[in-house]
Amino acid sequence: MLSSKLFTRVPSTVGGLRAAHSASGLSFDFSDEHLALQSTAKQFVKNEVIPKAAEYDRTMAFPWEIIKKAHAAGLLNTQIPEEYGGLGLDLVADTMIAEALGYGCSGIGTPMLVNDLASTPVQIAGSEAVKKKFLTRLTEEPLVAAYCVTEPGAGSDVAGLKTRAEKKGDEYILNGNKMWISNGGFATFFFVLARTNPNPKAPTGKAFTAFVVDGDTPGIVRGKKEINVGQRCADTRAITFEDVRIPAAQVLGTPGEGFKVAMKTFDKTRPLVAAAAIGLATRALDEAARYALERKTFGTAIANHQAVSFMLADMVTNVELGRLLTYRAAQEVERGGDASYYASIAKRFAADSAVEAATNAIQIFGGAGFNTEYPVEKLYRDSKIFQIYEGTSQVQRLVISRQLLQKVKNNGSYFFA
Ligand SMILES: Cc1cc2nc3c(=O)[nH]c(=O)nc-3n(C[C@H](O)[C@H](O)[C@H](O)COP(=O)(O)OP(=O)(O)OC[C@H]3O[C@@H](n4cnc5c(N)ncnc54)[C@H](O)[C@@H]3O)c2cc1C
Repeated sequence: MLSSKLFTRVPSTVGGLRAAHSASGLSFDFSDEHLALQSTAKQFVKNEVIPKAAEYDRTMAFPWEIIKKAHAAGLLNTQIPEEYGGLGLDLVADTMIAEALGYGCSGIGTPMLVNDLASTPVQIAGSEAVKKKFLTRLTEEPLVAAYCVTEPGAGSDVAGLKTRAEKKGDEYILNGNKMWISNGGFATFFFVLARTNPNPKAPTGKAFTAFVVDGDTPGIVRGKKEINVGQRCADTRAITFEDVRIPAAQVLGTPGEGFKVAMKTFDKTRPLVAAAAIGLATRALDEAARYALERKTFGTAIANHQAVSFMLADMVTNVELGRLLTYRAAQEVERGGDASYYASIAKRFAADSAVEAATNAIQIFGGAGFNTEYPVEKLYRDSKIFQIYEGTSQVQRLVISRQLLQKVKNNGSYFFA
């Protein structure tokens, strides 16, 4: 079990990245505490995740055994504060765990990272009683939770959500259909975004309310497990709410202002998705580089063919850039900086890099890359979702371009700002 004491921050550390140690005032070193955590996460992935990944992919069984071990090892829900039984680690630490899980198996990693997605809005906007009830539950037992926003008719366009919650006395009555909900089959609680303003013209910032809903509340119908292209042991389902009664005390934040809570969550979780994507890209790089050193054509290892080694060069360049962007995004959260901007940049780049790296890895493996006996076809299947969930790559570009243009509008220049 990890100890939060391990992570007592040294004064010179900003968001886990040491600041101002070098003459230039810039350092890319992690603190010793973070390096110790990274080593624990890598060992866990090496011993517990990598050996089981192919089997979970084949059977599509939910990876409970690994979730239990991660919980026992202190690698789950690491950001939950100590007063709720958590370790209260920072986002940089969690990002390291996500990167290791992405390397080992992103299908096994996703259910664990979705706990961050579901518990972050509770941490951001829950009352003390709500935090105590729902966050403590996750730290006491190896359970999973879900973030319930997407609907059959609305994914990118959150303003189009139809699920509604109507206030009756000191309760809300929730009705509607959600779709593609990760951990949906097993969630002990759901974060839910629902329309509470009956006026269809109400602005997004006033139309929706965020709730935390107990998983065993009557009226919650969990759909069948969806069979997806990749990350096949992760659990994705439709969730239907039929007259589900939610105590008004379980509203997260101000009624009507739930959209803000749902979006603010992404500042802290998109760096984790980016990290998992970069972990996968690094795995594709390792597999491809090892194979290129072994496989011979025309009397030499294929690594000696420039066309192959240049593909590896592009892959490692993206891995290094992606890591810089991802840890930068995590650091922005820790220091209260430009979190959503950097989170979107990191997520967009890392997701696209993961897909490119997995595609290149198949190419380097040749025919063997297209076969299920070799590891890279799984990486290829698993990588694609990174460009879709937690905001598609197009949606990230929307966020990035809007903020970029605002900056230039405000300052007249990106460079001279
Ligand atoms: C395996 C899996 C797990 C998921 N887990 C969760 C979860 O736990 N919780 C949850 O709430 N949701 C979850 N989702 C849903 C996911 O976040 C959505 O699928 C995603 O946001 C896209 O929404 P959509 O599928 O409705 O696509 P659409 O919004 O219909 O988009 C279709 C296409 O149009 C593009 N597009 C849309 N609008 C624009 C625009 N303005 N400009 C340019 N291009 C645009 C999109 O990028 C995409 O390529 C999950 C999805 C999957 C597949």
